[in-house]
Amino acid sequence: MQDYVSTGFSRKRPELVVTGPTPAAHGQAAPAASPALAGDLAGIAVQIASCVKCSLCSGRRTTVPGEGSQHPPVMFVGEGPGEEEDRTGRPFVGAAGQYLDKWIPSIGLQRGECFIANIVKCRPPRNREPRPEEISACLPYLQAQIQAVKPNTICCLGRIAAQALLQTTASVGSLRGKVHTWQGIPLVVTYHPSAVLRDPELRKPVWVDLKLLKTLFPPAGSKTPAS
Ligand code: SF4
Repeated sequence: MQDYVSTGFSRKRPELVVTGPTPAAHGQAAPAASPALAGDLAGIAVQIASCVKCSLCSGRRTTVPGEGSQHPPVMFVGEGPGEEEDRTGRPFVGAAGQYLDKWIPSIGLQRGECFIANIVKCRPPRNREPRPEEISACLPYLQAQIQAVKPNTICCLGRIAAQALLQTTASVGSLRGKVHTWQGIPLVVTYHPSAVLRDPELRKPVWVDLKLLKTLFPPAGSKTPAS
């Protein structure tokens, strides 16, 4: 059964890459094989690969739809691809991603047990923030991905992700430390790993946020949601 999907596309040669191995869903009974679900994610990635809905399409090398477990306890949502992500077609594989990989075990998970995606699927030039019209154009893809994988929880990494999903202009500082919801799914906000790399003072609040996040999905070996 395939439970892990990695999708990478080249602008010049749009081919779907689906890779294993297939880490088990976090502490939950393995769901029945669901080619329809995989098809949904793959179908979304196919649409992204040929997307020209905003100007970011002109500068990308690859689209970066996201990757991970099809049944994740946590879906991490960042801002947009950087240089390394644009080169590889994979989310969070640069310095910030390597730092995120160190956070994930602190909540009892491995990277492959989560789903990792971004608000925009194409790299903004010189890593600038995505513009409102680019976020609006791209957000339906992320919304479709969330609906496809049905994560137990969502963790927004940074202001762009939090503001886009929660439809707010509030700061990360005012949004973190509490549980929000996105269409009924518990959602926690914390700082983006790249911000924490720049400012080590943010490590402590991130730790608090991750502890909060950990209370919101079933612990390993449990089949029922944590209360
Ligand atoms: S950023 Fe999103 S909306 Fe813009 S071209 Fe890429 S996939 Fe399409």
